[in-house]
Amino acid sequence: MQLLVVTGAGVSAASGIPLFRVGADAVWAKDTTEMGTSGFFRQAPVAQWRWYQERFRSASTARPNAAHFALARLEEAVPDFLLVTQNIDKLHEEAGSRKLVKVHGSADRVRCSKVGCKNAAPSGSLAKSDFDADFQRFSDDPRRETLPSCPACGALLRPHVLWFDETYTEHDSYQFGRVAEFASAATDIYFIGTTLQVGVCAMVLEQGTRRARPAQVTVVDPDPRVEHLQLAMRWSGLPDVRVDTVKAKAEKFLPRLVRELGR
Ligand SMILES: [Zn+2]
Repeated sequence: MQLLVVTGAGVSAASGIPLFRVGADAVWAKDTTEMGTSGFFRQAPVAQWRWYQERFRSASTARPNAAHFALARLEEAVPDFLLVTQNIDKLHEEAGSRKLVKVHGSADRVRCSKVGCKNAAPSGSLAKSDFDADFQRFSDDPRRETLPSCPACGALLRPHVLWFDETYTEHDSYQFGRVAEFASAATDIYFIGTTLQVGVCAMVLEQGTRRARPAQVTVVDPDPRVEHLQLAMRWSGLPDVRVDTVKAKAEKFLPRLVRELGR
């Protein structure tokens, strides 16, 4: 068995981190996809950093839930394993996951906004905690002049996250190539707690199914949105692939899966 698990915001929901695209608390629904862009950063870096500060604050007090711990145990039970998360929180790492790709970046890191700087894309990033004092100064007096800047070149720091108007290949740490390679050989693929609307899901599905022996694909969600996957498949010119659905919350389903695989 070569097992690939892709997780989305639904996995962190039980830890109190708001969902991105579904429900009244949805982050993107409230703030629109406009704020999570490099265009918005260039236009209004003060407003964007204040918005991120607010989001990161709610994430910093969150603790892993049963879904995160079950995935860490799954990694021990299945030698050929990779966890790919769309979440930028630290909950998978805190629960003990190590074979982990954070394909949308990480809230605990920042990077220089000036491409070509050693602290910028395609491979540079910095621990956000090294700039705690700078971010505190900015929070106390939020204006352009107090925005934290790159220690190497003086350009503004930006969050180390994938924005809506950027691509997965923008930064090496998103490890898109590693994910594609693993997906192309996976025997089992689980999409858990994701609305399947982001590019990585379409790519994983294409790699996992466009071959003689396609992977077994399972979507686990309280409200599985398989139509999004089918749409993505049609866009990619893929034939209809059989996808199993499990209507369940991640924190209920995953401990069960670990027990089954352990038998
Ligand atoms: Zn720089």
